[in-house]
Amino acid sequence: MNQLILATHNDHKAQEFRDILPQYSVQTLADLGHDEEIEETATNLEGNSFLKAETIFKRYGYVVISDDSGLEVDALKGAPGVYSARYAGEPRNDQRNTKKLLDQLQGVSNRKAQFRTVITLMNAENSFQFEGIVSGTIAQSPRGEAGFGYDPVFVPKGYQQTFAELAAKVKNKISHRANAIEKLLNFINEHPTFC
Ligand code: IMP
Repeated sequence: MNQLILATHNDHKAQEFRDILPQYSVQTLADLGHDEEIEETATNLEGNSFLKAETIFKRYGYVVISDDSGLEVDALKGAPGVYSARYAGEPRNDQRNTKKLLDQLQGVSNRKAQFRTVITLMNAENSFQFEGIVSGTIAQSPRGEAGFGYDPVFVPKGYQQTFAELAAKVKNKISHRANAIEKLLNFINEHPTFC
């Protein structure tokens, strides 16, 4: 079975990738024994996604996939975007981030937002990026227990519930990551020798 390294310590993400790429043995940084945090110093998702892939490829030489995601809010000119994980400062905390977001949007009628992710696939010769987007709106207050991050305040287009109220099965069909992984899968199928 072909091996792919996913440049993350997040098991939840690894499972999503394994579900959609069953023909590959998807290993994480924990499987590699890579404990160091990868510096995310770029100012956009594309840059950080690339940095993660490059760091791991240079160190281990395996074909690698990485991703970087964020919530982009229209009324906040795309913030928190690449800074989504640490929006309310260190240490990163989902509830404080969500509270800050709702505070920033208090009295704001334009609630449009999107989750965006950029996946990078890299081998010795080349790298390609795949973007995934899910559009929606920011709720007035948090609802639901499932998921993580901004899920309790994100209502995807075409639904009444937040991501945290929807079943994981539904979220994982329409999410930004699902969308980008689908593009990655199509690319791998069309370029079977890349990996
Ligand atoms: P990452 O690059 O995928 O780790 O995402 C960075 C940050 O964006 C996370 O810490 C979350 O705050 C937010 N985020 C990314 N994807 C999601 C999602 O599917 N639901 C909720 N928040 C997300």
